[in-house]
Amino acid sequence: MNEIIVVGSGFSGSILARKIAEECNRKVRVIEKRSHIGGNMYDEYDENGILIQKYGPHFLNTNKYFVIEFLEQYAELFPHNPKLLSYIDDNYVRLPFNFKTLQQLVGPKKSEALLAKMRAAFVGRDRVPILELVNHEDADIKEYGNLLFDKAYRTYTAKQWGLKPEEIDKSVLDRVPMAMSYDERYLNKDFQYLPKKGFTALFQNMLDHPNITVELNTDALEHIAFDSENKKIKYDGEDVELLVFTGAIDELFAKKYGSLPYRSLDIRYQYENKKSILPCEIISYPQAEGYTRSTEYKKITYGLDQDQPISMIATEYPLPYDATAEIGNIPYYPIITEDNLKVYSQYLEEANKYGNIVLCGRLAEYKYYNMDICIEHALAKFAEIKDKIK
Ligand SMILES: Cc1cc2nc3c(=O)[nH]c(=O)nc-3n(C[C@H](O)[C@H](O)[C@H](O)COP(=O)(O)OP(=O)(O)OC[C@H]3O[C@@H](n4cnc5c(N)ncnc54)[C@H](O)[C@@H]3O)c2cc1C
Repeated sequence: MNEIIVVGSGFSGSILARKIAEECNRKVRVIEKRSHIGGNMYDEYDENGILIQKYGPHFLNTNKYFVIEFLEQYAELFPHNPKLLSYIDDNYVRLPFNFKTLQQLVGPKKSEALLAKMRAAFVGRDRVPILELVNHEDADIKEYGNLLFDKAYRTYTAKQWGLKPEEIDKSVLDRVPMAMSYDERYLNKDFQYLPKKGFTALFQNMLDHPNITVELNTDALEHIAFDSENKKIKYDGEDVELLVFTGAIDELFAKKYGSLPYRSLDIRYQYENKKSILPCEIISYPQAEGYTRSTEYKKITYGLDQDQPISMIATEYPLPYDATAEIGNIPYYPIITEDNLKVYSQYLEEANKYGNIVLCGRLAEYKYYNMDICIEHALAKFAEIKDKIK
């Protein structure tokens, strides 16, 4: 029987590895190029007991209860609604932008009439994307939309993506809509949780199965070969029954159709001998030069003594991804534009020529997946392929 190889140990790879190992009772080799499992979900404790998410802050939020049930097999979860503020014109305002933010930004006098208009215009709507405000027929709503856009979205987006707002896919600008109420939850999702012991521990449990072996510090690209005659992918010169690939698809094919660009992050850490540094766990800085947000992980770490006189903030400086650079060599956010999607479709067509490869995940499918969608998608992929596995 030929081997089953899974490249990558993020959510996509780890879920498929576990499912194949458990439900198909097959041995699975997980190949991971980093020195740790978990992909971009990886977290680790620093010497002060603060749990730091190495690749930026991640919060589980979903309306899909089956995602929670699935994850509870591998970790105990605790409810956590992240608290965020945005620093605008030297003041902290509430994120998500909500009625309170509106009062803070336009003042109490003007806000009363504007709130009445908003309530009437968006009856029954919990959240409204910024572009709907900007394009609204009512002049006052439109004016407020433009104010938010100028003070927060335009600059944040430009830094985050290195693109003008009109060049960005609309789904990106829709990601932080305005709350049509005083709702202070960053996202209005039913289930908002974090694993008590962190994400890495969750992945350890997921990959802890007698049929799974994990090989760290191994770049699968050095072992993969294409047998174009037989339309099969080989690993270490051997036939494989199935290769689940969750790495970057352009790298798999040596960028023959060009690079698929990503934004990366330079995350800079700053420790201070203080109990607390920021007014809440995440501050977004739309107007600052070069950086977008800071996270104070101490405020997130489950059960940590908040009185200990040290804390740390991690500040994100976005930059273009370059696999060969010293800083910015991690692909974080795919830059979804029409042109890039055309390049992606060429890679997809190429991959489809081979009968034994399955692409899954944000890098292989060049998509921004939130973790709940990523989990749902990996489970669906398994359902698609399981009957083909002998
Ligand atoms: C900064 C940031 C914050 C986010 N915050 C949230 C959030 O708050 N909530 C939420 O729901 N989602 C969030 N997400 C999305 C979440 O990170 C993804 O949904 C999830 O991590 C995707 O998992 P994946 O397995 O597809 O990819 P990855 O986690 O990237 O895993 C791919 C793995 O493949 C490995 N690999 C690649 N190439 C090779 C190779 N050649 N050989 C061997 N191994 C290889 C990589 O090292 C990596 O470990 C965030 C994303 C980012 C970038």
